[in-house]
Amino acid sequence: MGSKQKETIEGLIEKVKDFCPEHDTDIIKLAYDFAKNAHEGQFRKSGEPYIVHPLAAAHILADMRIDPVIITATLLHDVPEDTEVTLEEIEENFGAEIASLVRGITKLGKLKYRGVERYIENLRKMFVAMAEDIRCMIIKFADRIHNLRTLGALPPQKAYRIALESLEIYAPIAGRLGMEWMKSELQDLSFKYVYPKEYGRIKQLREAKITGKEKYYSEVREQAETALKDAGVNIISVGGRNKRLYSFYQKLMRKNNEVNKVHDLIALRVIVPTVADCYATLGILHKLWKPMIGRFKDYIAQPKPNGYRSLHTTVFAENRQIVEFQIRTQEMDDEAQYGIAAHWHYDENGAHIPRREVAWAQELARIQKDVLNKLSDLEAIKIDFLETRIFVFTPKGDVIDLPEGSTPVDFAYHIHTEVGNTCTGSIVNDKMQSLDTELKNGDVIEILVDKHRKGPNEDWIKFVKTSTAKSHIRSYQKQRRLPKWLKSVLPGK
Ligand code: MN
Repeated sequence: MGSKQKETIEGLIEKVKDFCPEHDTDIIKLAYDFAKNAHEGQFRKSGEPYIVHPLAAAHILADMRIDPVIITATLLHDVPEDTEVTLEEIEENFGAEIASLVRGITKLGKLKYRGVERYIENLRKMFVAMAEDIRCMIIKFADRIHNLRTLGALPPQKAYRIALESLEIYAPIAGRLGMEWMKSELQDLSFKYVYPKEYGRIKQLREAKITGKEKYYSEVREQAETALKDAGVNIISVGGRNKRLYSFYQKLMRKNNEVNKVHDLIALRVIVPTVADCYATLGILHKLWKPMIGRFKDYIAQPKPNGYRSLHTTVFAENRQIVEFQIRTQEMDDEAQYGIAAHWHYDENGAHIPRREVAWAQELARIQKDVLNKLSDLEAIKIDFLETRIFVFTPKGDVIDLPEGSTPVDFAYHIHTEVGNTCTGSIVNDKMQSLDTELKNGDVIEILVDKHRKGPNEDWIKFVKTSTAKSHIRSYQKQRRLPKWLKSVLPGK
């Protein structure tokens, strides 16, 4: 993705014809001419005619093989806000569906990052648009990616604000929607402007670590391929993938800057036809090379909260060098790359990935409920929604999704307010653990309660992570300070 050839409307139509031959491309040409006309006389900060921007954003989506309807709307995305042409005229010319997408984007507004108030306002708009039609977000991300690619033309202070907003808001939302490629692109492009020094350092470090490894990795790859073929496993492909820059930076920070503790800077990705082939591949690799203890992750049986599925394992390959393998089917790989956009992505056979409507719909409903309710509290949003999540289990096997660093008290409040208020201890993976224990992915948690307990311990506020737990503990603190007569007339407890 991200072709370097000159981006023309002819090139765009070629790309669309390639993955969706049956689509009427006349409408794409029409949308281009319409937008070009409307933006006539307008220029980007770089000095280029304005139409270069919607065209480049459309190219980003065409490279992702995204539905031509979305691409057409992308060409028109800045017309109503920036020109005399109205949404009604767009609807007359291009029909209700495209007009509705353009309306969604227009409602999102332009780049206007100014302080916390605006930040929250932008978020609110984004979630409303997302709830109405998730396709708007796909366009918005492409729009933002192109704006970031051309950020150098803006005054530094403005460039910084846009990059910061992209890094803190846009990228995590893309991640939450499983759109890995767009997330990484947003992060890497912003990184340079938000943390310029770190960007330079990390880039060099990554370069140094990767250089000279090609030969070794291609040997390991060949050995793996041979072993798999000998065992009769069909392989679609085995390829290397380098960890993206910002992702490497984040991991490095989590590992206290110890680069030798980052084992997946280069990983080998094995794509096989079926789920059964994934497990077979895992077995063969573990037979060939000794796996590193505690590094195997089965995201097929337990997908990540954003839907990511794959098997990960780290082995001691030739010369006892540490190599990470990621094993998945083609469908999982497409989903890992495109996330929610996979529904509008055409695969090599011109087909869409089958929709898993219910899961996505539920996720969206949850995102809305979670976030719209707390838009007044930016910290709550950042902690609960945008941070990395872990998933843990009830003794019955129900999956609970919590922010990283959550404790049994967070878990208890997630189950029920009463469980939170009366909890006295926890059993994590069959062992008694204190209530401030930091939970890890895959933990099974049982909460011990004492029905006679009056309420939460005020000290819990020091270690809980979720805003739900915090607000319950705080409201209990407040209530305790109220005079008795007032408490008795308040609703609830
Ligand atoms: Mn735009």
